[in-house]
Amino acid sequence: MITNKTRLNLVIGFPLRHSQSPVLHNFVYGRLNMDAIMLALPGPKIKPLMEIIKTFPVGLTCVTMPFKQAVIPYLDAIEKQAKAVGAVNTVINRDGRLSGYNTDVDGIAFALRDVVLKNKAVLLLGAGGAARAAAYFVTKQGGKILFLNRTKNKALALKKQFGGQVIGKNYLGSHPIDVIINATPIGMYPNVSQDPLDKKYLKRHQTVFDIVYNVGSTKLLKDAKSAGAKTIPGMEMFIGQGLKQIELYCGKKPDNKILQAVRKALTAQL
Ligand code: NAP
Repeated sequence: MITNKTRLNLVIGFPLRHSQSPVLHNFVYGRLNMDAIMLALPGPKIKPLMEIIKTFPVGLTCVTMPFKQAVIPYLDAIEKQAKAVGAVNTVINRDGRLSGYNTDVDGIAFALRDVVLKNKAVLLLGAGGAARAAAYFVTKQGGKILFLNRTKNKALALKKQFGGQVIGKNYLGSHPIDVIINATPIGMYPNVSQDPLDKKYLKRHQTVFDIVYNVGSTKLLKDAKSAGAKTIPGMEMFIGQGLKQIELYCGKKPDNKILQAVRKALTAQL
């Protein structure tokens, strides 16, 4: 129930038609008996959105494309992980002071919680915001990253920051790959028949994690499953990053029961 004390939280980005953040947050707020609501506030310009956050005030703001870097100059503080990744997906307003966090890294850590990365060859497809968070996490875990991106210069920039190797497609057939991470939007709804990697490169011993989260199982994951590989859907990352946002906001870590329930609610919508 909305009361005169209900706190407003927002997700900002453009466009926001497909954002599932209000679904995840409002579901968990209900389970935790929090008097808060999350709404989607799409806007093409960051400045007026940040003015709203500060003056309203908005307690928690989820930040999505294209604002994950644009939001940084408006913050009073940026946490270490967000600084290292160079992107912010969460802003917490504490008495008018805005702090920026990156919980995409926590989401990736959650999705890959059972995957050994140390000394493994990790093929990272894409070199945008999600790829940066993945590169940060994989490097921290001791994985060896192979960057493959449409625009080579962007992959080279990630290599400069995180180490690893930039490869072309010709590398793939002749070298072993242990883990594949798709951090491109290829395969996202409605383009569900597209995949970022030919199925001939998918093998039984691999783990394939597709960061795309608005499709139950992407073509890449279906092909990986047919090849006998272990598959991890982007929804796991989405849940992990969202629950961490709630923990940062209210200081309470949602328990396993809430995790199972929110997973069920979100996957039922796909
Ligand atoms: P981004 O910053 O725009 O980066 C997209 C990357 O994909 C770029 O490297 C781009 O290559 C590449 N790419 C895009 N279209 C391509 C195409 N048709 N062919 C080849 N490469 C292509 O986007 P992002 O924020 O990293 O998001 C990437 C995906 O991750 C999206 O689907 C997003 O929804 C998803 N995501 C999921 C979660 C989650 O919680 N599961 C969280 C964040 C993001 P160029 O460098 O050549 O442009």
